[in-house]
Amino acid sequence: MSNEKIPYKIYLSENELPASWYNVRADMKNKPAPLLNPVTHKPMTFEELQPVFCDELIKQELNDSDREIPIPQEIREFYKMYRPAPLVRAYCLEKKLQTPAKIYYKFEGNNTSGSHKLNSAIAQAYYAKQQGLKGVTTETGAGQWGTALSMACSYFGLDCQVYMVKVSYEQKPFRREVIRTYGAKITPSPSDTTEVGRKILAEFPETGGSLGCAISEAVEAAKKQPGYRYVLGSVLNQVLLHQTVIGLETITAMDKYGIKPDIIIGCAGGGSNLGGLIAPFMGRKLRGEADYRFIAVEPASCPSLTRGKFVYDFCDTGHVCPLSKMYTLGSEFMPSPNHAGGLRYHGMNSVLSQLYDDKLMEARSVEQTEVFRAAQEFARVEGILPAPESSHAIKVAMDEALKCKETGEEKTILFGLTGTGYFDMYAYKAFNDGTMTDYIPTEEDINKGLAGVPRFPCNEI
Ligand SMILES: *Cc1c(COP(=O)(O)O)cnc(C)c1O
Repeated sequence: MSNEKIPYKIYLSENELPASWYNVRADMKNKPAPLLNPVTHKPMTFEELQPVFCDELIKQELNDSDREIPIPQEIREFYKMYRPAPLVRAYCLEKKLQTPAKIYYKFEGNNTSGSHKLNSAIAQAYYAKQQGLKGVTTETGAGQWGTALSMACSYFGLDCQVYMVKVSYEQKPFRREVIRTYGAKITPSPSDTTEVGRKILAEFPETGGSLGCAISEAVEAAKKQPGYRYVLGSVLNQVLLHQTVIGLETITAMDKYGIKPDIIIGCAGGGSNLGGLIAPFMGRKLRGEADYRFIAVEPASCPSLTRGKFVYDFCDTGHVCPLSKMYTLGSEFMPSPNHAGGLRYHGMNSVLSQLYDDKLMEARSVEQTEVFRAAQEFARVEGILPAPESSHAIKVAMDEALKCKETGEEKTILFGLTGTGYFDMYAYKAFNDGTMTDYIPTEEDINKGLAGVPRFPCNEI
């Protein structure tokens, strides 16, 4: 089909929603390393994970072999309320940049949570309900995950307890109210409601909290209450699996119009949206059916892929979670107050870490001010006010399109537009006022974080 015929928005019909999630691990030659018990350093078993996680989700976490995992009917029904998500041809952005490149983005901001996180929240709540649990606990940084999970829990009638990083709790009061509206209980972290929270408060009374710390509190809260489990919004393989609905819809839409992306770009916090977007394309690459360039974009202030080490590390500050082999800056790394709250995690999903280490994916880091410049330019021509996290992908997509302008190449660029930025008005204000700063950690900062990585045989850094 010729490009003239491609509409601004490609919508799929309801019955084109994928019937299964795609498990890219099945096609990987080098599988991601298993989660390890932090005490024995042996791979975590199903039984060891059971007190913390939902049974079905553990099975998904440990499943490296089944290529397709069927999406239960109830989850597909929920997906139909806001999916399939549109694939947009950024004609206006192309025109503005005067590039011969063709730019597409998959838009995940069309739901109240404002991001892709609802795709996994609804799946996790479903499995918790199926297991007969009373409720779930979780952490939230910027608030998108807490919103998504509270929506999913209210749908299934589950109790939901959210530990929200204290700085965000104070800076984003409206996120907080959305979460409360959906019936979740929300606690600023660190709090005095858990042992680990009290310990952190005693040591750092002034701390604004961190994602790693909120995770430790949520895990402790789940373990202490019968009928509760802990759920996580990113980083884990199960989350990446649920997010493949993004990539599967995209590949269906592109195949329908005969479009083949040359470059696929996504922002990377814990890695779930990027992993979900690229997985089906990566599958084709791994099976030798097609080739693509994949680019992970992270903030220069929290550069786990571009400046971290590929080692086993703690997933949380309190060291109560299993060890994961991943690109990490160390669980004690304290990212500077960057406005892209969803990208402030010290580590990276282990599938993406392995793919990056195997040179199947590239990574790039970008500074905050240039990200907001790109966000502003995008908003002015494409209409959507992007989330700061998503704008990292916009920035690199624009850079690649401008390269095409220099070389005259008509490349096809695809990026993930993970969400909207309506709750990030302080960030936009700082940018509009010209008071936004860029902080890049020094070698010393990086080394300080990495010093906290656990040392044991075969975990040299
Ligand atoms: C949470 C979030 C991200 C980053 O999380 P990943 O797991 O890396 O996808 C990106 N964009 C938005 C809008 C988010 O809410």
